[in-house]
Parts: sequence; C-alpha cells; structure tokens
Amino acid sequence: MSKEAINFLDRTHGLWVNGEWVQSSSESFIDVIDPATGEVISAISNASQEDLDSCVLAARRALDGAAWSDITPATRSLLLHKLADLIDENGEELAYLETLDNGMPLSISQSIAVGASVNCCRYYAGWADKINGTTVPISSMPGDYHAYTLKEPIGVVGLIVPWNFPLVMAIMKIAPALAAGCTCILKPAEDTSLTALRIGELAAQAGIPAGVLNVLTGYGSGVGVGIASHPDIDKVAFTGSTVTGKAVVRAASVNLKRVSLELGGKAPNIILPDAELDAAVPASAMGVFFNSGQVCTAASRLYIHDDIYDEVIERLLTFVKNIEVGPGLASSSVLGPLVSAKQQQQVMSFIAKGREEGAEVLVGGKTMGEKGFFVQPTVMAVTEQDMTVVQEEIFGPVLVVQRFSSVDEVVEMANDSKYGLSAYVWTNKLADSHKIVKRLDAGIIGVNVAAAADWDLPLGGFKQSGWGRENGLEGLLNYLQTKSVVASLEG
Ligand code: NAD
Repeated sequence: MSKEAINFLDRTHGLWVNGEWVQSSSESFIDVIDPATGEVISAISNASQEDLDSCVLAARRALDGAAWSDITPATRSLLLHKLADLIDENGEELAYLETLDNGMPLSISQSIAVGASVNCCRYYAGWADKINGTTVPISSMPGDYHAYTLKEPIGVVGLIVPWNFPLVMAIMKIAPALAAGCTCILKPAEDTSLTALRIGELAAQAGIPAGVLNVLTGYGSGVGVGIASHPDIDKVAFTGSTVTGKAVVRAASVNLKRVSLELGGKAPNIILPDAELDAAVPASAMGVFFNSGQVCTAASRLYIHDDIYDEVIERLLTFVKNIEVGPGLASSSVLGPLVSAKQQQQVMSFIAKGREEGAEVLVGGKTMGEKGFFVQPTVMAVTEQDMTVVQEEIFGPVLVVQRFSSVDEVVEMANDSKYGLSAYVWTNKLADSHKIVKRLDAGIIGVNVAAAADWDLPLGGFKQSGWGRENGLEGLLNYLQTKSVVASLEG
C-alpha cells in the first residue's frame, strides 16, 4: 500500500479553488466508500452554489489575468509536460487512490489512470503551440482585403466526468482545455473524486497559475446542475449517461453555453464465420468485461454467425469461467468490484429483467462475496432485439449473445440501437470488413480488435451517444472558437 495514498485519505478534503484548499460553505461531506469492502475510507466536500460562484469568479479572473493569458503557447505546452511528469512521479499514490475509490484492479489504475493520463497530457502538450487560424482569400466582397481567422480559447469551461475511469476522464478534458488556453472547473463524480482533488494540487506544483484549474466535489444534482446552468460558464464538457446528458443540455440553454457530450453506448461486436477465433474470443470477452464492464465502449452485444455459434459459445464460457474476480488491491484480480452498491443493484436488476424477458443465463448472473460490490461476469443468450438487456446500457459485467445468419441481418441488428458510440467486427476478409464498417452507425469501430482508443483518434458518438468528439485535433477544437477578421487594404 502507498503511504502517500493513506495520508491523502486521512486528510479533510476541501475544494481546490484558486490554487488553494478552501472549506465548503455547505459544511457538508460525502462519504468515500471502498467498493471492495463497502467501508467508509474518507470524505469529500459537498460544494454549494456559493462555492461554485466564487470558483467561477476565480476561473474568470484567471482567464483574463496576465499569468495565464500572457504566457506563450510554448509555456502552456511546458506546463502540461510538467503536469505529466508529476502524474508519473506520483503514479503509485494516484494508482492506489484510484483503486481504493473506484475498485478497479491496480494494474488498470497503473496503466489507465496513470499511464494513459500521462500520455494524454503529453499529447495535448504537443498541440498547445500548434494552434493556428488560416488566411482567407476573400472571394466575392468587392474591394481589397487581408482576411484571416484566429482560434481563441472558448473561456471558462465546466468539466463534468463520471466514475468509471475517474482520473483519465478528467485529464481527457483538462489537457485539451489547458492546451487551448481555457480555465477549468472540474467536477468529478461523487463516488470517485480523490484523484481529481490530487490533480488540483499537482497542477499548482507544475506551475499552472492559480484559478486555471479548480476542482469542486459534490453531487450531480447540486454542483453538477449548478455548472451546467451557470450563466458565467462558457462551455460544459460532459461525460456520463445519456439521460444526464439531456438534462445538461436543457440546463445549458440558460446562456446557450457550448456543450459537448460523451454519453452511453451499447456496442455490437460481430464475429463472422471466417474470423480468427483464437484472437476473437478472448478479446471479445475482455472487450466487455474489462473494468467490470464499466466502459462506455464496452463490446456488450455479441453477434455470432450461425456456423460458428456453438464453438464460440463453448470457448467463451471456458474463458469467462476462468476470469479472476477480486479486490482491486489483490494482484491476482483481473476484475474488481462495481463502483457502488447502487451500481451493483442496477446491474442485478438488469440481469433479473433479462431472465424475466426470456434471456438464458449461460454463466454468472449472481453477486459475489460477503462484502463489497462484486458481480460475476455474466453471459446471457438472447433471442429478440427488443429485450431490455439488448437495448439498454447495463454498465456492468454482462454480455448478451445472439446468433445471425447473414451480413445484412447482423448490420440491421447492430444498428438497431439508440446508441452509436462504438462497434467491432471480426473477420479475415479485409474487403468485407471495410464494407461492413461503412454500414455501421458508430463513432469508433474496431476491426479484429475489441478496444479502440488512442489520443490521436477522435472518440465520440453517433445518435444518442453524444455530441462532438474528444481526443485528437477534434478534441482540442472543442475548447476553441473561431474569430474571423477582415482588414481593408484600401486607403
Ligand atoms: P452520470 O450521468 O450519472 O454522471 C456523470 C457525471 O454527471 C457525474 O459527475 C455526476 O455527478 C454528474 N451529474 C449527474 N446529474 C447531473 C446533472 N443533472 N447535471 C450535471 N451533472 C450531473 O453517469 P455515471 O453513472 O457517472 O457514468 C456512467 C455513464 O457514463 C455511462 O452511461 C457511460 O457510458 C458514460 N460514459 C461515457 C463515456 C464516453 O466517452 N462516451 C465515457 C465514460 C462513461
């Protein structure tokens, strides 16, 4: 166990505002619960509207202040590299905090919370000094002009993130926002706020000026709504469920703030008869069960061709029965607990609903252990597209499997969803794979791979999976606005 992580848990956690810890005016706290044991291990502040107002003021002053607005893009780049260095140097502490808070195995905390966060900071550090407008030849306005565009930071941005990958979800927003020159108010999920709070301190240590990155903890129904509806916040970047995303859009209409949304998914994963099953089966299993299924791009609907259905099911069940489930701190654990008792209950009620509607549980289907929020990796055979477990995002270790007999049929089944975040196809026929890719309604597609994500690759959803894209250049453009300038060259 990391001594630093234990010391951090023992602190009284305030809010990180304007480069320092402040106590919430609410004087109320939210328990931090270890999902592996169900025990209270710390507490975070429940920010009030008054806290939010002073935080917005600090972020607004920082946006206009010389310490941030006058520094060069190259300095912004250096600051992001410095933040990456500090995440790396404090990696052990951050990984333990993430595992204790979220439940994920330590190996995932190390590779995603720490490793991927470092890479994301460095990726956007690379963009910070490459932001430019264009010169524009005026095509029809009479006269002689020099015309160009400027790319400017959108302003004060509210960043609202979920609990499934707490730190990297925050960094995915912080890094492009800072590269663009914005100032930020980060609101982590109430279930998993510890690493976000630590990042506030590390940002200050990196030399990021006071007020540029602020962290407010609290409930979605409180400070979350407050951010979405605040009249002096210019943009909200939200990752979470589709239902909450719609509420954010409604609240943001108060001042027509810009909104980007990374929402839910229910990804189809298609195995064609010529697929390489040695690769397809284990990857498809981990494509849904990784992080106990709490992944927006999880390959949670498996479509198997009739010709190989029995063989795939046999291999899949053998694989799933051998997945080690246990506390995130145990080195043998491949899957940890779900994040909360609420999430465990939600997943179990989906499994019950599936049974009620005629789905057959092939493996799993039960909670595990005497404490903590564990659910067995579960595979359910389904027959109808309109079953709840086929249509709704479960966000837990539950895979639904269904057979198909033709490409036309499976494309129709794959697209029969309100979601369109990701999709996966397994085949050895290259040309066929590209033809299917063109027909799938999804923002990111893996061919012969069941996890598709990279900082260079735009990530976002078709249909009700979101608005806009994170990652890549598109992720940076989320935090910039265009100003067009026309200067007369006459007289
Ligand atoms: P959630 O929508 O319940 O909460 C997300 C965040 O929004 C939390 O910080 C919460 O406190 C806050 N919130 C809740 N109500 C709010 C409101 N009315 N106004 C403003 N903020 C509010 O989601 P969750 O359960 O924390 O996360 C799981 C969901 O996130 C899943 O649907 C998953 O697919 C989605 N997700 C999507 C992506 C993606 O990139 N598309 C990535 C990760 C998770």
